[in-house]
Amino acid sequence: MRINVLGVGFDNVTMAEAVERGMELLRGEGCHYVVTPNPEIVEICREDAEANAAVNGAALVLPDGIGVIKGAAMLGTPLKERTPGVEFAAHLVERMAEEGKRLYLLGGKPGVAELAAKNLTAKHPALQIAGTQDGYFKDDAPVIEAVRASGADCVFVCLGAPKQEKWMRKNGEATGAKLLCGLGGSMDVFAGTVERAPKFWCDHGLEWFYRLCKEPRRIGRMMKLPLFLVHVKQEKRKK
Ligand code: UDP
Repeated sequence: MRINVLGVGFDNVTMAEAVERGMELLRGEGCHYVVTPNPEIVEICREDAEANAAVNGAALVLPDGIGVIKGAAMLGTPLKERTPGVEFAAHLVERMAEEGKRLYLLGGKPGVAELAAKNLTAKHPALQIAGTQDGYFKDDAPVIEAVRASGADCVFVCLGAPKQEKWMRKNGEATGAKLLCGLGGSMDVFAGTVERAPKFWCDHGLEWFYRLCKEPRRIGRMMKLPLFLVHVKQEKRKK
């Protein structure tokens, strides 16, 4: 059963359980996708029905930010733990390297996916990179064909939200991959072009503040966080 936070149903899993589930989907039949919404994406889903359908249509919905964990707790339906997309992806990469699964990296500015591929294979020499593609393409068809031709088992889709969620829902099946993961800025982290907040900030639920200090232009987007908390409080009162 999913835990509903303002219209988005989150899977109540630990990181270890999420990775296990991801690997099961990767080994199984059919095509599935994973999303990792933060409060900003939950707010987008309240206003954009297509984004809402794409997010809730995922096989695995993981709470990326501390805000979602706090929101769920305030609503009296706590989630087990925060499962940041970038950490989920790092664990998945390790397991894919062990099991010989093929990974396609899609998204980021030109050159970023290649850099991410280089860093990931330096860390996991057994990892098989099926291909790379930047996230600023115009037509979907050639990209879908390239993924299909690459024989990828898994695709990391880093096009920003809600573009990546809509893209996975619409095109996932056609790529021939078993699993697609919508991971936002994770490609930049793997490439080393953006640094993740140091552990202290992450452990204290302040990663968002660190990012804001590093990239002040995010302020507009981050104003969705207080709005999210206001909406959670309203929902709590209704309950
Ligand atoms: N991006 C992309 N294509 C686009 C828009 C964005 O590939 O049309 C990439 C962008 O280069 C960045 C990522 O998507 O690497 C989105 O990062 P953002 O900071 O929005 O994601 P978050 O870290 O908030 O998940």
